[in-house]
Amino acid sequence: MSEKRDFYEVLGVARNASQAEIKKAYRQLARKYHPDVSDDHNAEEKFKEINEAYEVLSDDEKRAAYDRFGHAGVSGNAGFGGFSGMGRDPFEIFEEVFGGFGGFGGFGGSSRRNRNAPRRGSDLRYDLTLEFEEAIFGTETEIEIPRQETCSHCNGTGAEPGTTPVRCPDCNGTGEIRRQAGFFINISTCPRCNGAGEIVTSPCHVCNGRGKTLEYRHLKVRIPAGVDDGNQIRLAGEGESGSRGGPPGNLYVVIHVKPHRHFRRQGDNIHLEMIINIAQAALGDEIEIPTLDGTIKHTIPAGIQTGDTITLRGKGVPKLRRDGSNAGRGDQIVTFQVKTPTNLTKQQRDLLLELGKTLDREVVPQREKSFFDKVKDAFGV
Ligand SMILES: [Zn+2]
Ligand SMILES: [Zn+2]
Repeated sequence: MSEKRDFYEVLGVARNASQAEIKKAYRQLARKYHPDVSDDHNAEEKFKEINEAYEVLSDDEKRAAYDRFGHAGVSGNAGFGGFSGMGRDPFEIFEEVFGGFGGFGGFGGSSRRNRNAPRRGSDLRYDLTLEFEEAIFGTETEIEIPRQETCSHCNGTGAEPGTTPVRCPDCNGTGEIRRQAGFFINISTCPRCNGAGEIVTSPCHVCNGRGKTLEYRHLKVRIPAGVDDGNQIRLAGEGESGSRGGPPGNLYVVIHVKPHRHFRRQGDNIHLEMIINIAQAALGDEIEIPTLDGTIKHTIPAGIQTGDTITLRGKGVPKLRRDGSNAGRGDQIVTFQVKTPTNLTKQQRDLLLELGKTLDREVVPQREKSFFDKVKDAFGV
């Protein structure tokens, strides 16, 4: 298979394109390469490519995953953080955007779409909020998912067992209504049978003829160590069940992480700000530093300025691989803030006065990097 093209390139939009721009670009290209109208011999391939790109870029979360992980972040076989990028029928996406073939200028396109064909079940989304530490070290949790399941009484047919649906008289069982409109033939879904081609005369009493029932399922979800806010965990086949024998959709567990009182996470690194006094800053000290693994003793050197940082190697977040395994840990970065003492006692004041006499009293404008620049450097912003 040839290398996959960049989705932004496929749609010909900038990486920061708005949703309106993406939709506009999609509409133009999808019209051009729809296999029913295009003369291009690669039309079908191009049409699929356009729809796949649109499916990802039109969804803010899929787009974010794509921006971060590239195709691996949105491909169907990525175990973790993966979306089923090719999960949806391109023609279904097309009809969604164009509002069905009626809105597409009335060429007889829908003949290629068999409405009685098996349909894949919808994807489901579950929002899961984790404590800061749970996201870092992983956890296992049980979630409850309301799902539309195939009705077990009628096996999804919607007809009471023992009764048989009758052929729809309006469309003669085809599910489509054809109308000559000048030069074109307009094809629309039969409103009487909703495209099924048959009418249920005795609806199933369990599902009221819907063929599906709402069930609550309990699922155990393993959260790998190192997940971050906005990550998604794909549970293949745990979405809505398909219809007419189609495969089920997927379940996406969207991770939300609560903020921590002290720690701030940036990728695989943990940031912590610590306040030290002027004596500790000038002389150095052995201090206690909170880490994800508990408090550790650490000796800080003499001469620390506000904005100075130290790095505690391997004290950060477990690095999450795309397949859900871990590869080492990030670092903890500690930024110091030197606190000027206030409310001095007489003794402290006298000592400082004594010290002050020995210090350079010349006040000069800042020449080097300012405190704010240093902080910016430390946080990489
Ligand atoms: Zn039923
Ligand atoms: Zn009909």
